[in-house]
Amino acid sequence: MQASHRSDPTTLTRDKLEAEVRQLRAQSASLAQMFEQAPSFIALLTGPEHRFALTNAAYQQAIDHRDVVGSTVAEVLPDAAAQGYVDLLDQVFRSGKAHRATAARFDVQAVPGGPVNERYLDFVYQPITDAHGTVSGIFVEGHDVTERTLAEVALRENEARYRTLFESIEVGFCIVEMRFEGERAVDYRIVEANPAFVRQTGADVAGRWVSEFAPNLERHWFDTYGHVALTGEPAHFEHYAEVFGRWFDVRALRTGDASARRVAIFFSDITERRTVEKRAEAGERELRLITDALPVLISFIGDDHVYRFANRAYDDWFSIPAEAVVGRDVRDLLGPEAYAARRPYIDRALAGKTVTFELDWPRRDGEPRIAEIRYLPRRATDRTVDGFHVFVHDITARKRTEVDLSRQVAARTAERDQVWKASSDLLCVANLDGYFVSLNPAWPRTLGWTEEEMKARPFLDFVHPDDIEATLAAAAGLSRGEAQFTFENRYRHKDGSHVWLSWNAVPSDGLIYATVRDVTRVKHQAEALAKTEEALRQSQKMEAVGQLTGGLAHDFNNLLAGISGSLELMQTRMAQGRLTDIDRYMTVAQGAAKRAAALTHRLLAFSRRQTLDPKPTNVNRLVTDMEELIRRTVGPAIHLEVVGLAGIWPALIDPGQLENALLNLCINARDAMPDGGRITIETANRWMDDAGATQHDMPPGQYLSLCVTDTGVGMSADLMTKVFEPFFTTKPLGEGTGLGLSMVYGFARQSGGQVRIYSEVGEGTTVCLYLPRHYGAADEDDVTRRLAEVGRAGQGETVLIVDDEPSVRMLVTEVLEDLGYTAIEAADSVSGLKVLQSDVRIDLLVTDVGLPGGMNGRQMADAARERRPDLKVLFITGYAENAVLGNGHLRPGMQVLTKPFVLEALATRIKDLIAAPI
Ligand code: ADP
Ligand code: MG
Repeated sequence: MQASHRSDPTTLTRDKLEAEVRQLRAQSASLAQMFEQAPSFIALLTGPEHRFALTNAAYQQAIDHRDVVGSTVAEVLPDAAAQGYVDLLDQVFRSGKAHRATAARFDVQAVPGGPVNERYLDFVYQPITDAHGTVSGIFVEGHDVTERTLAEVALRENEARYRTLFESIEVGFCIVEMRFEGERAVDYRIVEANPAFVRQTGADVAGRWVSEFAPNLERHWFDTYGHVALTGEPAHFEHYAEVFGRWFDVRALRTGDASARRVAIFFSDITERRTVEKRAEAGERELRLITDALPVLISFIGDDHVYRFANRAYDDWFSIPAEAVVGRDVRDLLGPEAYAARRPYIDRALAGKTVTFELDWPRRDGEPRIAEIRYLPRRATDRTVDGFHVFVHDITARKRTEVDLSRQVAARTAERDQVWKASSDLLCVANLDGYFVSLNPAWPRTLGWTEEEMKARPFLDFVHPDDIEATLAAAAGLSRGEAQFTFENRYRHKDGSHVWLSWNAVPSDGLIYATVRDVTRVKHQAEALAKTEEALRQSQKMEAVGQLTGGLAHDFNNLLAGISGSLELMQTRMAQGRLTDIDRYMTVAQGAAKRAAALTHRLLAFSRRQTLDPKPTNVNRLVTDMEELIRRTVGPAIHLEVVGLAGIWPALIDPGQLENALLNLCINARDAMPDGGRITIETANRWMDDAGATQHDMPPGQYLSLCVTDTGVGMSADLMTKVFEPFFTTKPLGEGTGLGLSMVYGFARQSGGQVRIYSEVGEGTTVCLYLPRHYGAADEDDVTRRLAEVGRAGQGETVLIVDDEPSVRMLVTEVLEDLGYTAIEAADSVSGLKVLQSDVRIDLLVTDVGLPGGMNGRQMADAARERRPDLKVLFITGYAENAVLGNGHLRPGMQVLTKPFVLEALATRIKDLIAAPI
């Protein structure tokens, strides 16, 4: 048809065409039906992404009816993807090689997280190639073999279980097939045998005929098994198999029907058991041999008091052969007296108790003999006592040794007792209830109480009240099982005094064993020693204070020299009429006086920390201001040179402290040059880089230095390590305080700087102060300007000044007049009070506290207030006369100013007091 179609298309009639189309339709419909109804599942995947093009009903069922056509496998079958099937598809697509799987497991999970359906599939992934051999898709075809697979698995498991049982039981097992000649069994074949059977028979016999591997097997076996196979009656017997040289317990029963002639046989190797039974017989013989050889009387007496067994030793002990003993009655053998002695023990043994007792049992020759007799009850299988074994030992020798031993123990105990009594240590035993159990004689000797008195009450009664707590703690430790060593407490002596005891105590078995020592003497010595040490410390302190005050006096002298020198100079200049110079000396004197005041304050506040009052300071100016004073202080034998760097940075420091430090350094320099020399004071700016900073032990940064160099004796390296220590001095008493450099050091460190010494013995010394740079301008004010700033007095305001020291009166008067007040002076309390009781206007009373004239300043002020209740009072005092001034609780309108003071402070106080409402 096709040939005609091709050769002559025009001849194709419409009918023919229609017929052909119909046929094709039918064909394709039946193909589609086939595809749809095929028992195997089929799917067609296209492209590398495995997109479903077609699936049949079986396939739909395999994937739990998910809608997959048009989607990729990865998209719609995530369960398959997760189990590696997409990877498998990728592999097939890439390689172009088909993949075939048998009983591959596929856990179908149509809904994620939903139920899982365990399936087993046989399938093939068949790549589809185009004309060029390129893979364009995959044809999937397969069967669900779940039912079959699961059945197989179950079967295999079942079989394995039986096999395991079969193979692991200890009983040998085999199935044999009998061969008969007529009624007579002549041979049998091992159809199947378990490993235990193979082990027991020692031969690999499966499938073999007995005639082959055990040709000499006794008839017994054939006859027995033959009987079982023919009759179906099971057999059970024990038999010795000569071919194997072993005893067996055998059970045989027919399996299958009579025609099969098969017998199942269970074997147990009982060779061991049989051997033991045989040995037991031999054992009894041996036992007799052994008991006969023992030097111990051994017998067995039944509950009827009749001997059943007796060993050879009876020959010796009773002079009767052992055989003659058996069968005799105990009473009959021993005689009535010996029997009576044993009777209670015999009864106890027959009541089921093991009994041991000793008896004198003289030998036949009359020698003493001690016997240890033991009755061991014997129980029958029903647990009732059917008699007892008798064991009799001769323990005469052992007894003798025991006596010796106890004698030794007694001797040892006596020795110990000796120690106990003679010991100078206190020895005791106490119980955990807090009572002494025993005490050695050292106790009464030490504490005066008798042993009975001490045992009569709890030991805590004797303990010093202050030591009870510690004693209880130690006792608690002992009751926990912890030994206590060198624990100390005080015990009351009968005479009321206390004795120091040092305890070493060990707990054992609920008791405390202690050796105790009287350490009262040692304690007192230690106390005395502590007192001596304290006294020594005190005297050292006194010496230090002596040095300190001596040194301070020295420093004061220096300052006074500065003041009096200035005054002297002023006097000279005034005499010469050179009044312009006076100002300068005045400044010097004021400076020295201020420093002296500072020194006093430091002395009063010696133990306290100095509070610094840092101000931006021009160090060059400070040095220049100090120059004159230093020159005077160091004297004419020393040449002083000051080298101030122009443009020195300001430093943020307490200027008073720096002046003090500089003066100290210069005095040290002077002291180092008793025969004169040169002092150079030098200032400089310094950049401290990292290396320099590390070397100088200070943070890197900008510093200014103030160095004092002398040409004196210098210092050794050893000396340099000590000079910053407080109170370290090499100077004679009264000249050095040993505080100069330590104060300098403290000041420098507190100011954020450092001190360094460069010195060589005989070459002189440079001491440098490094002070951190202050970023800002230095303060430039001075006292006169500050004084001028204090406001002036109101019209006619009057102040009464009472002081016995004319210089103070003069000073105060001058300040008052400078400020525009009217001043009235009085030199003692009487004249002061007279003024106060007059009508003169007085706005303020300024008075010293200590006054001549019968009244102190306070009393005078109080008296004055009777007439002038609103009188304002300012006390000026050199020291804190606290008691006089009411311990700081002054009445309103009264104030205190401590001497020495700067004038500006006085002026401000006066102004403020007068201005303040009372
Ligand atoms: P003091 O001056 O009271 O002895 P310092 O603390 O000022 O106390 O000094 C301690 C010691 O350091 C001095 O006793 C002295 O031995 C030594 N010393 C200080 N400065 C110098 C110096 N410039 N030259 C030599 N030795 C010095
Ligand atoms: Mg000094």
